[in-house]
Amino acid sequence: MTGPRVAIVGAGIIGLAIGWRLRQRGVSDLALLDSGEPGAWHVAAGMLAPGGESAFEQPALVRLLDEANERWPAFAAELGVDVGYDATGTLGLAMTADDLAEAARVWTRQKLPLLRPSELREREPALSPRVRAGVHAPTERQVDPRKVVAALRDRLADRIVAKRVEDLSEVDADVVVVAAGCGTAELTGLPVRPVKGQLVRLRGEPGLLRHVLDATVDGRHVYLVPRADGEIVVGATQEERTDHAITAGGVHELLHAALDVVPGLAELELVETTVGHRPGTPDNAPLLGPLDGDRRVVVAAGHHRNGVLLAPITADLIAALVADGHADPLLAQFAPGRLERTPPGKSRLGESESESKRESKRENERESESQNERESESQNERENERENEREKRPGRF
Ligand SMILES: Cc1cc2nc3c(=O)[nH]c(=O)nc-3n(C[C@H](O)[C@H](O)[C@H](O)COP(=O)(O)OP(=O)(O)OC[C@H]3O[C@@H](n4cnc5c(N)ncnc54)[C@H](O)[C@@H]3O)c2cc1C
Repeated sequence: MTGPRVAIVGAGIIGLAIGWRLRQRGVSDLALLDSGEPGAWHVAAGMLAPGGESAFEQPALVRLLDEANERWPAFAAELGVDVGYDATGTLGLAMTADDLAEAARVWTRQKLPLLRPSELREREPALSPRVRAGVHAPTERQVDPRKVVAALRDRLADRIVAKRVEDLSEVDADVVVVAAGCGTAELTGLPVRPVKGQLVRLRGEPGLLRHVLDATVDGRHVYLVPRADGEIVVGATQEERTDHAITAGGVHELLHAALDVVPGLAELELVETTVGHRPGTPDNAPLLGPLDGDRRVVVAAGHHRNGVLLAPITADLIAALVADGHADPLLAQFAPGRLERTPPGKSRLGESESESKRESKRENERESESQNERESESQNERENERENEREKRPGRF
């Protein structure tokens, strides 16, 4: 036996990637304990997009995301099987003048030159004539998270144990790595909150799209991730809710925006509607490193919208820490101790479970009211727009 006895709680994309790297570093006494509840990885689109707006004000997070992106080609190649890694890049798109003004803030910071509609359609002939402008982001790529997890599970099959951990004290190991996604809050008291995302999968002949499309459509955000086998992932809603309902409004919103960008999607088969929860943190940055007050416990959680992108770098950093005691300076910015904890087992804000549920219900009701308002506003806007179009093009209908 070599190295410490390590148990990883959670065999989602983060726990598995860490397990794989630990095994490569010679840690032989290794167990991954997983409750079997569906992880966010099963829902994730797999965009490897370090340029998102949420990180702009956090240089350390920008650096982590960029380094993660750089590590993906080698990580995918090392897995040795097809995990859908595709480097064609992403087209950022805007449909209206307002959409362009909003998207241009991000593109300018990314230093991406603006492309005309004709240039965009040269790259993607299926785009709607309504697309007003866009950019090509060559370093924003994609991978298929389901294939990545399958490949990692294959490598660690003899180490995965079906077990839900209720309390970290019940885990017998020298080091316990908590990589339980949204389940991390209950085990550690760290403020990891579930951020609901609904997503749909379409299927048609391969080749309708080549790039990932990331579009702002009448103020709404939608992305399309085309796979080589003809699947197109359309995502995703972002809701501060804990339920698992797939709603008519959510699916409508996604399909409406997606068909506005690529009208030809209307012919595709709708093969899956799905929902998951991103493990969000108050500052949108992950929690990486020892848990204050318990030297035995190392946290690797709270990856929010970027857990797929961040899997290779998280695995490298945490494996080096656990196997060799090497704390990379990058870790300092993401120490779990920067955020306040509540006693493990309690709900996220430290209230009683029932108060938390009541608050969550109130939140859902408030969100649902404002969603109805948004929907009726945008329906009016769409009506006006259709009216204008009819006026502009008499005889079309
Ligand atoms: C709609 C949607 C779209 C997304 N798109 C992208 C994207 O395009 N790009 C990207 O980079 N990221 C994306 N993400 C985010 C990404 O999916 C997550 O950040 C990532 O999956 C987090 O990985 P994880 O392993 O920490 O958690 P998970 O993938 O959630 O896995 C956690 C695992 O821990 C297990 N577990 C939980 N509690 C316990 C317990 N007490 N005991 C034992 N096991 C336990 C669960 O069963 C699960 O297997 C998306 C997420 C959603 C919801």
